[in-house]
Amino acid sequence: MKNPWTKFSGAIAFSAVMFSLSVVPSLSQSCTGSPKFSVWAKEFIAEAKAAGISASTLAAASKQFSYDKSVVQKDRRQGVFSQSFLQFSDRMVAQYRLDTGRRNLKKMKSTFSRIENQFGVPGAVISAFWGLETDFGANIGKESTLRSLSTLAYDCRRPEKFRPQLMDALRLIDNGDLKISQMVGAWAGELGQTQFLPTEYNTVAIDFDGDGKRNLLTSKADALASSANLLKSFGWRKGEPWLQEVRVPKQMNWADADLAIKLPRSQWKSRGVKFVDGSAIPSDNLSAALLLPMGYRGPAFLAYHNFDMFLEWNQSLVYSTTAAYFATRLAGENRVQRGAKIASLDGDQTKQLQRALVKRGYDVGKVDGIIGKNTRAAVKAIQQKLGLPADSYPTAGLLAKLL
Ligand code: CA
Repeated sequence: MKNPWTKFSGAIAFSAVMFSLSVVPSLSQSCTGSPKFSVWAKEFIAEAKAAGISASTLAAASKQFSYDKSVVQKDRRQGVFSQSFLQFSDRMVAQYRLDTGRRNLKKMKSTFSRIENQFGVPGAVISAFWGLETDFGANIGKESTLRSLSTLAYDCRRPEKFRPQLMDALRLIDNGDLKISQMVGAWAGELGQTQFLPTEYNTVAIDFDGDGKRNLLTSKADALASSANLLKSFGWRKGEPWLQEVRVPKQMNWADADLAIKLPRSQWKSRGVKFVDGSAIPSDNLSAALLLPMGYRGPAFLAYHNFDMFLEWNQSLVYSTTAAYFATRLAGENRVQRGAKIASLDGDQTKQLQRALVKRGYDVGKVDGIIGKNTRAAVKAIQQKLGLPADSYPTAGLLAKLL
């Protein structure tokens, strides 16, 4: 199951990136306000009835349906995420968060080992998401889920994504998992300690404390086991690593450092890649990609199959790498080696770069100031064409060359 959108709206991650978000008004289409919200709500209620939601749930829940302008404004403003891996991870993997995470791992040791036995996902991995999404449950959001989702389902921008979420929110009430008064979370409808969307909640949440209800808001056991179940449903493999920091040689074929290129570890070893402490990588068949989130002069990691599950959770490479790195720290690994001082492009510079690439015939997807898969692939292609180290990482030097 792929997330329908990047979870930047989550209670913490969003507030943490707020100051670097550029306002992108161009994302807003012109919403005409037609049909009226009340007319739309009536139609939606009829659809929900036909989908099997009980009349009593609908009568009570629809009282909270309303159009909240501030939610729409937040949704419009959500856009450019222009921090580099080190900027974001320095902020998010803060010492207090490491301390709290480690304390929780100790305190809830038996719960975490029960979870790992059943789902194969280590406590450090679950705790990384728990910490990043809500500061371990301290900040799960204060917005009415039904108000947020009815607003976003009505709004013209992405109704196809939010209508099913609203329907699933109603199912959670109908199933008895949550009372209407408990449906409080982040502004875009995420719920609970690890910020599940209602559809994820419905399909993979489980009752792990044995009270018969799936409560991801107040039951830590339910929330943590459900998160493990979500990662398992993505394809998490028990006992395998997810991310390991490595040292790369001064020179190698940087074009191989690409999440799409997975090679047996023996190959990385023969190319001169070592673990960060200088020890040898095993000469085995376990496959991994070489991840250089900030280019060949920055931090370097082997990203294994399980790293892809972080990308399923949130498709942003910076978020995913930060979460995976946070998990390694909670599992006892050292702080990342920083490499050279690497300036990263801001949102406007990234847009300039994207325009320059489009002008030369490269496909960057949308010119949106976000360095996603397509932009990285286009950067790699032009680096190869210009005879530069093809590490897919856009620098100010590259931008200058193209302008
Ligand atoms: Ca429960």
